[in-house]
Amino acid sequence: MKALVTGGAGFIGSHLAEALIKRGDEVVVIDDLSTGNRRNLSEISEDKKFSFVEGTILSEKLMGELIKGCEVIYHLAAAVGVKFVIDNPVRSIEVNVKGTEIVLEFASKFKRKVFLSSTSEVYGKTEDGFFKEDSDRVVGATTIGRWSYSCSKALDEFLCLAYYREKELPVVIGRLFNTCGPRQTGKYGMVIPRFVKQALSNEPVTIYGDGKQTRSFCYIEDTVRAIISLVEEPKAIGEIFNIGSETATTIEDLARKVIKLTGSNSDIIYIPYEEAYEKGFEDMRHRVPDTGKIHSLIGYKPHYNLDMILEKVIEYFRKTRA
Ligand code: UDP
Repeated sequence: MKALVTGGAGFIGSHLAEALIKRGDEVVVIDDLSTGNRRNLSEISEDKKFSFVEGTILSEKLMGELIKGCEVIYHLAAAVGVKFVIDNPVRSIEVNVKGTEIVLEFASKFKRKVFLSSTSEVYGKTEDGFFKEDSDRVVGATTIGRWSYSCSKALDEFLCLAYYREKELPVVIGRLFNTCGPRQTGKYGMVIPRFVKQALSNEPVTIYGDGKQTRSFCYIEDTVRAIISLVEEPKAIGEIFNIGSETATTIEDLARKVIKLTGSNSDIIYIPYEEAYEKGFEDMRHRVPDTGKIHSLIGYKPHYNLDMILEKVIEYFRKTRA
């Protein structure tokens, strides 16, 4: 199987590319290296079945050629991270919407299967925070930058489903909940790499808001396994799946756990959202996936719990001093 991984130099894309190479696939990665990094691909860069193209998914000419030459597309290229999206609003909307339009247009022309990497941001801010794939979306005003991320990815999903229904394009959509592991950087706001780095250097661990908000974290290996299995499963075509862990933790408990596991002297400090992000920022209080759908189709259950995830991430930061 020859696969194209868009955004393959990023945290999730690089782990996916590695797993595909390991099982014998041929893999082409396209990445503009805006948030990705070639170092992430160092373990497979010399492999004969691997090639890397530095370029943007906004180039129709390039995407036409790459999609023609592969059998399946894992479309992961997107603006990542709440902080990044708030700081780069035009670029984020453009890459998320126009980029996906281009991918789908050529996938349809050459009849290639597409996996769309979507996000739990799509659900928005519903209070109970336990989300099923067909739950309503509740998003805030267009003046609040964060919601552009939710809406741009929702539009990607609409577009995928439209291509599936109207043009019979085989698409599979995965809504990724908070995913973490080695190579994820804290630069774009993600909480686990930020806390681990802060704790390892005995700097204050920065909780945004009151720390009572909850998230459920999924280890990259579990996420990649889910993506690959869904793409292999014919019954997944035309469907949306939550991918994540159902075990939630408060951000405050996460901070304490990280301090404990690193043996750090760090204090915990609380920073108001408006200071951390932007005026009027709205967070999701709770966000947990209902993973019943993916479990019943492919028997998926995450293997790593939070302690195991943190051990892996701490080991990575200790080793690489990234
Ligand atoms: N967060 C925090 N301190 C940080 C970075 C993030 O308290 O240094 C919080 C953030 O406000 C959110 C949660 O941790 O409530 C998860 O943030 P992240 O950006 O990792 O993912 P999100 O779930 O917001 O997409």
